[in-house]
Amino acid sequence: MSRSVLVTGGNRGIGLAIARAFAEAGDKVAITYRSGEPPEGFLAVKCDITDTEQVEQAYKEIEEKQGAVEVLVANAGVTRDQLLMRMSEDDFASVLETNLTGTFRVVKRANRAMLRARKGRVVLISSVVGLLGSAGQANYAASKAGLVGFARSLARELGSRNITVNVVAPGFVDTDMTRALTDEQRENIVKQVPLARYAQPEEIAASVRFLASDEAAYITGAVIPVDGGLGMGH
Ligand code: NDP
Repeated sequence: MSRSVLVTGGNRGIGLAIARAFAEAGDKVAITYRSGEPPEGFLAVKCDITDTEQVEQAYKEIEEKQGAVEVLVANAGVTRDQLLMRMSEDDFASVLETNLTGTFRVVKRANRAMLRARKGRVVLISSVVGLLGSAGQANYAASKAGLVGFARSLARELGSRNITVNVVAPGFVDTDMTRALTDEQRENIVKQVPLARYAQPEEIAASVRFLASDEAAYITGAVIPVDGGLGMGH
C-alpha cells in the first residue's frame, strides 16, 4: 500500500537515501529543501524547519498533493562544532533550534492527522554521539540526546493511538556533514569503529524503512544504533 511519507532534509545525504528507499517501495514521498534545485522524483517542498509558518505551509502543500503524512522521518540536522570555551550562545542555541525544536515543530504538525487517522509512524534521526558524547560537539550531542527523551515521551503519549515513535542513531556516515572533517579526523574515527569503516547512507535508510514497516508494528520508543558497533553498550 502506498503511503504518504515526509522526509525532512531529504534533498541530500542520509535524508535523500531514506527518501529513495521509501520511493523504491512504492510510497509517495515528499522531501524538504531550503535552496537550490531539489533532486527529481519526489514532491519537493521548500521549508526551513526553524520557521513554524514554513512548516505549516509545507504540510498544507503535502496534504493537498499527496495526502496527510502517515510516515514522518525527521532527519534535518546541523552541526556547529566548537570547544565549550569558544562555543557562543548562538552556536549552542542555533543547533538546538534546528535539531531539537525543529523536530518538535514537524512532529507536532504531523501528529494532528495521525491522531485523526489513529495510526502513524515517526522516526527521528539522532546520532551515536547523543549518548556517547563528543568533544567539540556539546551542542550537537545535547540536541541528539534530547531527541531520545522527546521520542520516548511521545511513544508513551501516542501509543494508544497506534502511533509509533522511534529513533535511529547512526554512527559516522559518508555525507557532506562528515566530508567536512579533516583526513586525520576521519582516520581517527575509523580506528574506533569495530566495523572499521564509515556507513553508507543507504545502510541508515534500511533501518528507517524497517521501523516504518508493518513488521515493526510492535516497536516504539526504541533507539536503534546503526553505527558499526561504535556505541556498543548504550
Ligand atoms: P547533511 O549535512 O548532508 O544534510 C543535512 C540535511 O538537513 C540537508 O538536507 C539540509 O538541508 C537539512 N537541514 C539542515 N538545517 C535545516 C533546516 N533548518 N531546515 C530544513 N532542513 C535543514 O547531513 P547528513 O545527511 O549527514 O545528516 C542527516 C541527519 O543525520 C542529521 O540529523 C545528522 O545530524 C544525522 N547524522 C549524521 C551522521 C553522519 O555521520 N553524517 C551521523 C549521525 C547522525 P539543506 O540542503 O537545505 O542545507
